[in-house]
Amino acid sequence: MTVILAAAAILGFGYLLVSAVLRRIPAAPLCLPSDPIPAAWPGIVDANVPLARSLSADERQRLLRLVQLFLSDKHFEGCGGLTVSDEMKVTIAAEACLLLLHLEGPCYPALRTVLVYPRGFVPKIARSPQTGEIPETPAPLIGESWQDGVVVVSWDDVVRGAGNPLDGENVVLHEFAHQLDEEDGAGDGAPVLPGSALRTWGRVLSDEHDRLRRDVDHDRQSVLDEYGATNKAEFFAVATETFFEKPVQLEREHPELYEQLKRFYRQDPARWTPPPPS
Ligand SMILES: [Zn+2]
Repeated sequence: MTVILAAAAILGFGYLLVSAVLRRIPAAPLCLPSDPIPAAWPGIVDANVPLARSLSADERQRLLRLVQLFLSDKHFEGCGGLTVSDEMKVTIAAEACLLLLHLEGPCYPALRTVLVYPRGFVPKIARSPQTGEIPETPAPLIGESWQDGVVVVSWDDVVRGAGNPLDGENVVLHEFAHQLDEEDGAGDGAPVLPGSALRTWGRVLSDEHDRLRRDVDHDRQSVLDEYGATNKAEFFAVATETFFEKPVQLEREHPELYEQLKRFYRQDPARWTPPPPS
């Protein structure tokens, strides 16, 4: 028993050490492609990603380069009879890469495949009903992020989420925030951060998550969607949507949370000129 406990303690310590080291390793700089950017892409981004209209010319160029990198590295697959067009790929990649715009890390290193459904989809893995229980029809989902390298989105909801950049709802930003969160191997609301930033991040996110849970319990309005009360991973994903789509309100009502997200993403969307809804 003593040996087992000692082995467990060593493994536990090893895990903590490795995850601590992982959080401290500076990311390798991104090597962006230099091939010509296809002529249609800027128009697709302009039309479908209103948030990008708030970016500077240099940032838009970098976003297109990130899209190039994303599309050269990730596989898209249509589901439910959908054929994935270039417009769909560029739109989804541009929204996803908006999160990476000023990050130095790799481009979603664990992600291999993006599955695209035409509309809300029912997950394939549903809970088996107990004997005698009437099975519930699972509600359709608009997106999912899996830890084994897959993101799933509904195209209808990608269009709806991107088309209104001021409503705080954006399925692509949400699911790719999960991918960033999971880069260190744990979906716990803490993405890869410098060690010095981790403690403050943990405190602020924890306090803000508790605050949202209390707001939900007492039916109080919040700029953060109540789904963020589910757990810390969902809180980070919801906070990311709010940071990019309702930044002024988030900064006013949750200044500490806004500051942490601003430091992590190295972006300050509250200072952007708000894009007009499409
Ligand atoms: Zn989520």
